Amino acid sequence: MRIEKIETALYRIQRQPGLSNSTQQIDATSLLMARVHTDEGIEGVGWTYSHGTSGRGMKEAIDTLLAPRLVGEDPEYIERLYERMWKSVFPNITMSGLTTVALAPLDIALWDVAGKAAGKPLFRILGGYRDSVPAYGSGLDLAYSTEDLLDQVTNFVDQDYWGVKIKIGRERMGEDLDRLRAVRQAIGPYTPLMVDANQRWSVGEAITRARAMEEFNLFWLEEPILAEDHAGYERLSGTVNASLATGEGEWMPEGFLDLFQRGAVQFVQADVCRVGGVTPWMRIARVADAYHLPMAPHLVEEISMHLCCGAANGYLVEHLPTLNLNNTGYILNPVLPENGRFTPTEDPGHGVQFDLEALEKVRIA
Ligand SMILES: [Mg+2]
Repeated sequence: MRIEKIETALYRIQRQPGLSNSTQQIDATSLLMARVHTDEGIEGVGWTYSHGTSGRGMKEAIDTLLAPRLVGEDPEYIERLYERMWKSVFPNITMSGLTTVALAPLDIALWDVAGKAAGKPLFRILGGYRDSVPAYGSGLDLAYSTEDLLDQVTNFVDQDYWGVKIKIGRERMGEDLDRLRAVRQAIGPYTPLMVDANQRWSVGEAITRARAMEEFNLFWLEEPILAEDHAGYERLSGTVNASLATGEGEWMPEGFLDLFQRGAVQFVQADVCRVGGVTPWMRIARVADAYHLPMAPHLVEEISMHLCCGAANGYLVEHLPTLNLNNTGYILNPVLPENGRFTPTEDPGHGVQFDLEALEKVRIA
């Protein structure tokens, strides 16, 4: 099999007003899609995203630097093609960030081709460990009124999600505590409750805030401090009375390895688009497994459910209905959680079919 042609398209998907966390307001999603066509008629689809910005930069990187290195190659040599793409771009446009985010659509599309060629779903060709994985309900809800916040979390509990996650990091600590008290009361003592501070605090403030939140029995505290401050996470791990989740702001396997070696993370949140696709995500998962760490990937539920069913240490998938693709209407066959679990279908590859006609209306490049 040979790759004949690669097409890319950039879409801008408007989001509902009022979505924010402690460091970001999110109005739109830039969805960058790559379609890999082969001489055997198999088409692989992959995508990456950003929160409203940088889409054109990623498209340019793919069109001019990455895609030309794949045309004419056998798409089933995924590891080799991944290395070739990565090694050809990092000396020019840095090792991580834009580079890895731009690699993702191509790598995901190659895995989609491999699944379709094998006639098997992605999670099976990745190894196949489980048929379904628990889902937790998550919201971009820091600006929500307490009433809207409670509506959201009770809705998640009513749908039997494994647990719920809310945003924290309001200016005044007391406001966070009031909201948490109301949420804990609404969801009851048994539902796992996670909180996400989106890198807002210093180590000192994180210690103070975490101590004040102990009464709510948090399942994890996510990104209390800057993602790059691994030494800070190491200090917090030995200090605060909560497990730490981080990794959505990590781009390279080396960054994850450093966190693992320091004992600085307990739940690993690698994002398949940000790390550069399925290939690097699985490498990170294998290294995490050697440290006996569970994978709880950030967003991208459409792929993350396959990853967590394919890797032995796949643990938990985030369902963020206001920011995922499954709930936008742009996917023709969304696989949403049922009874609190994601169950990938047996469709070959990742199985996601985009409504390209509808997307054409929001295409910007
Ligand atoms: Mg987060």
